[in-house]
Amino acid sequence: MNTPRRIAVLGATGSIGRQALDIIYRHPELYKATVLSAGRRVDDLIELAVIHRPRLAVIADESLLPRLREALEPYGIATAAGPDALAECVEADDIDTVLTATVGYSGLAPTVHAIKAGKDIALANKETLVVAGEFVNRLLKDSTSRIFPVDSEHSAVAQCLVGEDPERVARLLITASGGPFRTWPSEKIEKATAAEALKHPNWSMGAKITIDSASMMNKAFEIIEAHHLFGIAPERIEAVVHPQSIIHSMVEFTDGAVKAQLGVPDMHIPIAYALGENSRLPGASRTLRLEDFANLTFEKPDVKRFPCLGLAHTVLTAGGTSACTINAANEIAVAAFLNNRIPFGEIFRTIESALYKTNFIANPCYDDYVAINDEARAKAQEYIDKF
Ligand code: NDP
Ligand code: MG
Repeated sequence: MNTPRRIAVLGATGSIGRQALDIIYRHPELYKATVLSAGRRVDDLIELAVIHRPRLAVIADESLLPRLREALEPYGIATAAGPDALAECVEADDIDTVLTATVGYSGLAPTVHAIKAGKDIALANKETLVVAGEFVNRLLKDSTSRIFPVDSEHSAVAQCLVGEDPERVARLLITASGGPFRTWPSEKIEKATAAEALKHPNWSMGAKITIDSASMMNKAFEIIEAHHLFGIAPERIEAVVHPQSIIHSMVEFTDGAVKAQLGVPDMHIPIAYALGENSRLPGASRTLRLEDFANLTFEKPDVKRFPCLGLAHTVLTAGGTSACTINAANEIAVAAFLNNRIPFGEIFRTIESALYKTNFIANPCYDDYVAINDEARAKAQEYIDKF
């Protein structure tokens, strides 16, 4: 009998983390969670640790360590705190796969440590590849670790590519739901509130990615992510709006054939596929009944109403640290929007301003990404402080 695959679940208390833990819990013969981490929801982390009994629980916010330790000591679960502990916990011998389901820039350092330690990565944290895709790909060349995409679109592309010659790929068609403002005019989108932006039509996700979906920044990030994951030139990666979220992405081949991957919009499917090293887990989700979706429709995305989408090709053309800059500025802008500091339309203008004002490094090393991330955050904050 094979031993269960040992998983470090980073971002265990989030939307992806909890769905991954569902799968792990239902399949003890296949998986064991050995490390769980969270940002600051310490009570949620404690609850999950008591259920899943990892060896170690890590909290990013150091002030919460005493509470975590006191609660988990009686169970013999070790505890740690802080960004360094979070990055280094992935290196332990009792980890086979690291699921990166933290949000934003915080995913980069643990992923870099995991690759250096030769761990496989189930990658949910797309920001890692947005910030430093070229750097991560260089690290992968010298490592035994492999990346299995969790993002539904990239899982779909990976599934469409099985058995195919990469030289015969003509285009990647990354589908997008279009988010809650798909049919809204620009003037209304400009003034949309956080409550309106948080109402995603098809997916239930964490707050940050839900706002990114409303602005279509999420799709821009996914185009960048696809470029780094699959090595396809940016001009051959396109977004297609598909409001029903049944086709999760498509690959067009040079003979004109197009392959699509379909399924109900349920992240259990791509999470299970990634944890299983691109293999199928029976019963991961419910069955798709196509008759319930009589119309599968497609639209060209409107970059005028969703200018964030256009940033993907801008930064892929510019290269260097430009994608790191837009990611950092977006994180600041989304947080300000969620705190009702800026209207929705200012998210794009905050990013545009930071992209213009932040230094650009053409061939960055790791420390350059760290510095540019800090600088872009400061520039974005300066812009927001005008409001
Ligand atoms: P959530 O906001 O639901 O969860 C985020 C998790 O990360 C929580 O466990 C949170 O801890 C933790 N966290 C937040 N900030 C930090 C930090 N600074 N350091 C360490 N941990 C931190 O996000 P999602 O699960 O929705 O998304 C996670 C990632 O997966 C994102 O990169 C997203 O783009 C990607 N993704 C998500 C999809 C989805 O369906 N949700 C689909 C495809 C990709 P705490 O609870 O304590 O705050
Ligand atoms: Mg996605």
